Amino acid sequence: MTRCLWFDWAWVDERWQERVALDIDAAGMIAAVRVGVPAEEAEIVPGAAMPGLANVHSHAFQRAMAGLAERGNRPGEDFWSWRHVMYRIANELDPDEVEAVAAMAYVEMLEAGFTVVGEFHYLHHDRSGAAYADRAELAGRIVAAARASGIGLTMLPCLYSAGGIGLAFEPGQRRFINGIDAFGRLHEEIAGILRREMPGAVLGVAPHSLRAARPEDVARIGAMFPAGPVHIHAAEQVAEVEACVAGLGARPVAWLLDRAGVDGRWCLIHATHIDNAEIGGLARSGAVVGLCPLTEADLGDGIFPGPAFLAAGGRFAIGSDSLIRIDAAEELRQFDTSQRLRDQRRVVLSPEGSAGAALLRRAWDGGRRASGQAMGRFETGARADIIVLDRDGSDLAALPPSLWLDHFVFVGGRRVIDRVYAGGDLRVERGAHHAREAVAARFRPVLRRLAETL
Ligand SMILES: [Zn+2]
Repeated sequence: MTRCLWFDWAWVDERWQERVALDIDAAGMIAAVRVGVPAEEAEIVPGAAMPGLANVHSHAFQRAMAGLAERGNRPGEDFWSWRHVMYRIANELDPDEVEAVAAMAYVEMLEAGFTVVGEFHYLHHDRSGAAYADRAELAGRIVAAARASGIGLTMLPCLYSAGGIGLAFEPGQRRFINGIDAFGRLHEEIAGILRREMPGAVLGVAPHSLRAARPEDVARIGAMFPAGPVHIHAAEQVAEVEACVAGLGARPVAWLLDRAGVDGRWCLIHATHIDNAEIGGLARSGAVVGLCPLTEADLGDGIFPGPAFLAAGGRFAIGSDSLIRIDAAEELRQFDTSQRLRDQRRVVLSPEGSAGAALLRRAWDGGRRASGQAMGRFETGARADIIVLDRDGSDLAALPPSLWLDHFVFVGGRRVIDRVYAGGDLRVERGAHHAREAVAARFRPVLRRLAETL
């Protein structure tokens, strides 16, 4: 059965167009886009419609530590001391808690305009480090949380097969570890869960990083898993780059470009510390960089070289990684303003025209590639993922359409999001997810327990 939503304004073919009807089929995909048509027999939706965004990098369980690691306990707090807190949280959660935390994260993503999540899933085993009787137990909990929230899912099971470059595993990593053969079985079981329970989901693969996956596994991962996106953390921290040069003889992004067959299937998460040769190589490879600017700022990672990368033709998408904040507009704003602070200039990422539109265009395009989902555009065959901006109760009422995306990215953000549809289903109204209260009621006891434990 086809439904029809009608908007007096919608972002179609990279511009605001008037009187737009979206026909949506029973599978939640766009069956037709009609521009300049009357609203006859359609459901009239007030506001301005634009495509939903992909959140290409999430570790859902980390939503339970947002705000719990902002205390200076010793001099020299850094990414590596944060990681020890993360291990403690990861080693506390039982399956019901993982599901409750993930559901909260996904509800908040939808409220923020993210309609698909790339879940980089590395919490695999029980609290002792042994495999669950159902080895895909926790992946199943992620799928259940995604289904309950209505968010689209790109599942990225993570191969975590090393403790560090040349290092033994730490006890804190015990729930993450699989050899390549056990990982292959886990991946197959996750494929089965998705076929049964979420046939619209996309399945990819995620070697954790050159720190935490054996280099020989990373080199062959694309060939071993020939379908779906390949995601990997790379060059987030200077110490990681130095360890890679010392242990593998090359910087991590250079190593991946030379040895792992990086191409358009790949998404390199962070890629913060890259030199000019890596910038050019990454841009030519067709890979997407998954920027997580709010997390990168919170963790003190560094600032991505945006102008040089974009000038080279590089592609990016956005992700919320540690989930310290969940906000699509704010990720884009943080990316842009971090460049301005470093360069002491304004509007450095888009020298011509609307910066908001330029950032969103790239995030829609990069998000479609890195998630492997048909999204990011209103066109036939795409997911019916729709963000509806409130045109009456916000500054948008006073602004011409040419300024709406600048307002969304730099000023209003999620405050001006009224409705969000994911896969054709209305999940968010007046900025709040329909299941927010019920999901929050299951999440808060978990947060309380963790806050008392730490
Ligand atoms: Zn990450």
